[in-house]
Amino acid sequence: LASRAFHPEDSVVMVGDLAIGGEEIHVMAGPCAVESREQLLEAARQVKAAGATILRGGAYKPRTSPYSFQGLEEEGLKLLAEARELTGLKIVTEVMDVRTLPLVAEYADILQIGARNMQNFFLLREVARVDKPVLLKRGLSCTIEEWLMAAEYIMSGGNHRVILCERGIRTFENYTRNTLDLTAVPVVKYLSHLPVVVDPSHGVGKWRFVPTMARAAVAAGADGLLVEVHPNPAEALCDGPQSLTPENFAHMMKELHSVARAV
Ligand code: PEP
Ligand code: MN
Repeated sequence: LASRAFHPEDSVVMVGDLAIGGEEIHVMAGPCAVESREQLLEAARQVKAAGATILRGGAYKPRTSPYSFQGLEEEGLKLLAEARELTGLKIVTEVMDVRTLPLVAEYADILQIGARNMQNFFLLREVARVDKPVLLKRGLSCTIEEWLMAAEYIMSGGNHRVILCERGIRTFENYTRNTLDLTAVPVVKYLSHLPVVVDPSHGVGKWRFVPTMARAAVAAGADGLLVEVHPNPAEALCDGPQSLTPENFAHMMKELHSVARAV
């Protein structure tokens, strides 16, 4: 179902009135984690002003250490809904498990499946039964074929609104957090009709390189971007080193116009 042989035309995934995979590039931006009302609303206001159409923010965080901040859970979801109300931005947020799926689905406009859950086939089967678009991030060590098979789980279960997200893969290189595999963009576009967005923030892990890779992603044909933005990255509870300040984000958005079809 995900393959281009089955469906030769590019698929457009509608998120309310936003067309992902259409003429315009959509930028999903916001903090890694929802931390507080003040932090989230400030981030939302700033990314909206710079031209983002979708607000990101995790309420449930898949952290490497169990002692790290794990997210505000339902309180975080409520804050995301408040930010949507105030700004008109759509919301993308991660769903980590089957247990919390009904709750997350009540609040989210797009359900994010994180890299660590890309092959959680039970979760994929469950999001297949929800009437919401799914942002399917590529697994840390997954091939393009495995990634498309994960999309196939969601689509074969009845949900065809899948957006793929390249977020970097594990390689021997350790200067950057991951290796952003931009080759995946044209390859996936060749093999599949699904829209592809790129997350340069997790892809490189260092804010300094994010705007360049964002431009490169768009030049490679990405349909959108997922970018971490924090009002004060130095104080972030999660992924501060890769988060752009609102000022740097606004600058990145301006520079995108040099490569984008439309932002
Ligand atoms: C995130 O988007 O904050 C996240 C946890 O991403 P990934 O699943 O790609 O690591
Ligand atoms: Mn993050």
